[in-house]
Amino acid sequence: MKSKIIVLLSLQLSIYTLFSQNITGTWYEIAKPNASLEIIIDKNNDIYSGIYNWEWKNGTNTINTPIDNVLIKNDSLLIELNYLDYNLNFKLQKDNKTETYKGFFYLNSRQLGPVTLSRTPIERDLTISAVAEKTYTKQDTLRGKITPERAWWDLTHYNLDFELDIENKFIKGSNTIAYTVLESKNVMQIDLQPPMKITKVIQAGVSLLFTQEENAYIIQLKEDQIKGSSKEIEVFYEGNPKEAPRPPWDGGFTWEQDSNGKPFVYTSCQGEGASLWWPCKDHMYDEPNNGMTISINVPENLIAVANGKLTATEKNDNGTTTYEWTIVNPINNYGVSLNVADYVHFSDLYNGVKGTLECDYYVLPEHLEKAKVQFKQAHLMLEAFEYWFGPYPFYEDSYKLVDGVGMEHQSSVGYSGYENGMEGSDYSGSGWGLKFDYLIIHESGHEWFANNITYKDMADMWIHEGFTTYSEALYVEYHFGIKAGEEYIKGLSQSIANDTPIIGDYDINDIDYTQDAYSKSAAFLHTLRQIINDDEKWRAILTGLNKEFYHKTVTSVEVENYIAQKVGFKLNTFFDQYLRTTEIPTLEYHFKDHTFAYRWLNAVPGFNMPLKVKLDNKEQWIKPTTNWTHEYTKDTKKELIVNPNFYVASFRNMKN
Ligand SMILES: [Zn+2]
Repeated sequence: MKSKIIVLLSLQLSIYTLFSQNITGTWYEIAKPNASLEIIIDKNNDIYSGIYNWEWKNGTNTINTPIDNVLIKNDSLLIELNYLDYNLNFKLQKDNKTETYKGFFYLNSRQLGPVTLSRTPIERDLTISAVAEKTYTKQDTLRGKITPERAWWDLTHYNLDFELDIENKFIKGSNTIAYTVLESKNVMQIDLQPPMKITKVIQAGVSLLFTQEENAYIIQLKEDQIKGSSKEIEVFYEGNPKEAPRPPWDGGFTWEQDSNGKPFVYTSCQGEGASLWWPCKDHMYDEPNNGMTISINVPENLIAVANGKLTATEKNDNGTTTYEWTIVNPINNYGVSLNVADYVHFSDLYNGVKGTLECDYYVLPEHLEKAKVQFKQAHLMLEAFEYWFGPYPFYEDSYKLVDGVGMEHQSSVGYSGYENGMEGSDYSGSGWGLKFDYLIIHESGHEWFANNITYKDMADMWIHEGFTTYSEALYVEYHFGIKAGEEYIKGLSQSIANDTPIIGDYDINDIDYTQDAYSKSAAFLHTLRQIINDDEKWRAILTGLNKEFYHKTVTSVEVENYIAQKVGFKLNTFFDQYLRTTEIPTLEYHFKDHTFAYRWLNAVPGFNMPLKVKLDNKEQWIKPTTNWTHEYTKDTKKELIVNPNFYVASFRNMKN
């Protein structure tokens, strides 16, 4: 074993030496498929020099300029250039495996995005929203697409009924799926992920044939499916559901114990989908219009909590208890949850804008005292969000906080932690993040944006995470003032990566979404608010969205169009820029004699976002386009400061 290691080491060393000597020549940036960046490095008398050649979108916005500094130290590479009063830095580390340099680039010390320099160029598509083609499997499509076997029927109700065998981590039960026939067809897709399996399917007393393609079951119906008729199908299933490797990010069942050694079981399945533990139409576009009933059979010393209201508790002869939960509103697929423990229950009432809202709290006995203090924030949350977004969307189903894992389970928000901040820290770095409990505020914010307004396709994740991240700032603003909210957003924007466009690929349930769906979306929503420049209108748009798309599933384009219509001007290029590219719009400007000239760089064609600036300390709006605008000024201007609420970059061109 030892000698092998030495051989490996020496191999690595020789690659290292070869690679490290070979820095001259042309390097291609390959992290961004929709921009073209070449760096050519030369060496003369031990001194490096080079050319930086950057082209973006059909040849517009080109920079071709010498590099000022190339520094190699061990396996790190620093490239520095000054273009006008732009200071650009590339801080890179050698990756011997792929023979590339990887790292980040910085504009005037601000980290902008990831960079990979390679000897081999990749194919470029210099058009808007160019995304590298990925290949998808049939399973991806069966999971993520509205397949013909899904499209012909509309969900009206689920009746899920099962027994939970905690000792054997086993579920056995049935789901009665009610639907309306939209188109007369007789092949139906129902999803359930292995190792769970469907054992029997019945319609009108007749057992049906089905085939399985991994996660999808294709069922042959016998009865006539007459257009407009209401039907039911009963699906029996059982198995050991997947255990969650890393809840909630990598979901499934979590089997724990409380401090008294009693079972503590909970689910999470965002992304993976509800078919991870029960049979359903596992696509976000369709929700059961009339809600859902969930009956759970558990050992009698435990309480099973699901969504909606507890409508029956029945003690069975075999020493188990059945809890029946009724949800009367349409429910988001991954929002369906199960929490089982020796819960203590307490409750209160909230006098909200739509009447009295029942608030129920289910916590482990050891958390009761802490919960009574921490959960007071639920009312503060409701007050702030009903102000900004309109009534809590599920009055009929109550509001709950349940000990488990932080997740936006509809009307049964999963919770853990009992401390302010996100796991005790303020991820905005502004200080305001410690003034509230991230899980209570963020996950409850999702009741409006995720559970009320639900994306049809995971590609539009920003509708859930962007608005909800922004809701944190609105919470801060409501309770601590507008300046506090602005500082919070500003803090969040430091974590924007601009690695891939916010909107992902459609029809494949792409669970590898960018983290920019959170902070970058919040930052551009805040930018949008500045352009609207009328906070009452902005609030009317936020509440209007929750009315227009009440209990609906939507696409990003529908949300974009709604906002544009309410604002009264076109926002296509605005949304394209922030949602469909990774570029930060950059204001280029110069002052000369009696002229002040400016334009947008780094922007999609036609980008014309107005911008609030301070010109020699005087606040004013300018309306840059991607072409130069020249303004006459009485005197020569000295200084321009962009309003910090805009998520943009700027640089002063000193040469013109
Ligand atoms: Zn979230």
